[in-house]
Amino acid sequence: MTKYIFITGGVVSSLGKGISASSIGRILKSRGLNISMQKIDPYINVDAGTMNPYQHGEVFVTEDGAETDLDLGHYERFIDTNLSSYSNVTTGKIYSSVISKERRGDFLGATVQVIPHITDEIKSTIQNISQNKKEKVDVVIVEIGGTVGDIESLPYLEAIRQFRNDIGKENVLYVHVTFIPYLKAAKELKSKPTQHSVRELREIGIQPDIIICRCQAKLSQEVKSKISLFCDIKYEAIIEAINVKSIYEVPMVFEEQKLGDLIIKSLNLKCQGPDLQNWENMVDKIYHPKREVNIGVVGKYISLKDAYISITEALLHGGIDNDCRVKIKRIDSDEVKKHSPKDLFKDINGILIPGGFGKRGIEGKIETVRYARENKIPFLGICLGMQCAVIELARNVINLEGANSSEFNPGTPFPVIDILPGQKKIKTKGGTMRLGTYSCKLEKDSLAFKIFNQEIIHERHRHRYEFNNLYKSDFSKHDIKFSGLNQDLNLVEIVELPNHPWFIGVQFHPEFKSRPNRAHPLFREFIKAAIEKSAR
Ligand code: GLN
Repeated sequence: MTKYIFITGGVVSSLGKGISASSIGRILKSRGLNISMQKIDPYINVDAGTMNPYQHGEVFVTEDGAETDLDLGHYERFIDTNLSSYSNVTTGKIYSSVISKERRGDFLGATVQVIPHITDEIKSTIQNISQNKKEKVDVVIVEIGGTVGDIESLPYLEAIRQFRNDIGKENVLYVHVTFIPYLKAAKELKSKPTQHSVRELREIGIQPDIIICRCQAKLSQEVKSKISLFCDIKYEAIIEAINVKSIYEVPMVFEEQKLGDLIIKSLNLKCQGPDLQNWENMVDKIYHPKREVNIGVVGKYISLKDAYISITEALLHGGIDNDCRVKIKRIDSDEVKKHSPKDLFKDINGILIPGGFGKRGIEGKIETVRYARENKIPFLGICLGMQCAVIELARNVINLEGANSSEFNPGTPFPVIDILPGQKKIKTKGGTMRLGTYSCKLEKDSLAFKIFNQEIIHERHRHRYEFNNLYKSDFSKHDIKFSGLNQDLNLVEIVELPNHPWFIGVQFHPEFKSRPNRAHPLFREFIKAAIEKSAR
């Protein structure tokens, strides 16, 4: 029987519910259990694909090409398992499915209502996640987005309330993540907001089994006892989630408080004892690096940290593998046009240009590529970053004046990046993207092959435009190498410069596959090249 853990949040948003959920996943996985995870987003968008990264952070892409909430990235990194489109539920998806069933006549003349039709759909979507896996899933962890009290999340809370009755009390656990503010004037941690939040949950019919308290200072016995008494929760089920320097330490913080054992006992799970040794070694490496490098990330969504979260994490993972602290300098691409690159990139040992959409900031990125190429600074271009590299090389090495991507200038005389003829007719956004995993064959004698040490790789994609093969021979004549190709579609996946210490552009998104205990080879080698540059 698959067991379910539901995670809700109270008091305020941005509590790190996703990290709490992921950390629970890790401590259970460390006991040999098979874990899957799901994020429920109560917004009406069908998926995160059309959402602005400024508002919602990065769009994470799964192997099967779903455009999802960034929390799925945390889940994959913590439980080290690939998730699928089943792992991200939205109100948009739930309603579209119910409405199409209604149109088909599936409800036999019934009045279609939130209860039971929407709640039934939610419950079956939650169950889908374990039913669609080949191997048996021991525990599914479901995080409900938003905060208790939001209108949008009500049907979900009602559905998870019913869920416990449907599958039995012993198979479901409710975990509530709350905030315990510290009042400076009173020099006290306050439990009242948590009491209110739990009261709100109980009004809906959910009594939490475990409370995770986000706090800046340690909870005193007194505060814990108060929460235990007023919220009717066992003392040992009040878990403190005090601020830590690295998110990867959280599983250890939970394990120390015996959260793993508590969950195992409550759900009556049969498993081995925890083994977090490798994870602990990894965290130890984060806290005690032997060296340091500075990486410049040049993009346009710089003001919101979450917009490039998988990139940031993957760089950190590359650092872990090299015993190195990676200091990231976020540079707004518009600034590159305003200041001298020499000043902007002073002390930078490696430059990364991440993915993106739209024209703004493009010229600054192209200028950045030029600087990295001419000054022999290790360069990693990802998706749009690779496309900018192609444009820069076309303009400044091959002398194709005005070369561009047809995304930024539809009338360019040299569309070195273009939309494929077959895609031109499709009008709706979302329908035209190359999404999810595609294979790529690497050329034996190349930097890419050296990095991956294998001939065929599989990487995730999310883009509309491609390298225009009409220009291939112009590039090849100038010692520019296409070292990775998708053979089925005859598409360029990797561009590199043999006469540069480390310059590579990839059409795919390696950051989505990087894990803290298994850095993606491109990031590991990029950091290594940056370390070598810093020593020069
Ligand atoms: N805008 C570019 C395209 O659609 C790149 C997308 C990306 O970087 N994810 O092809």
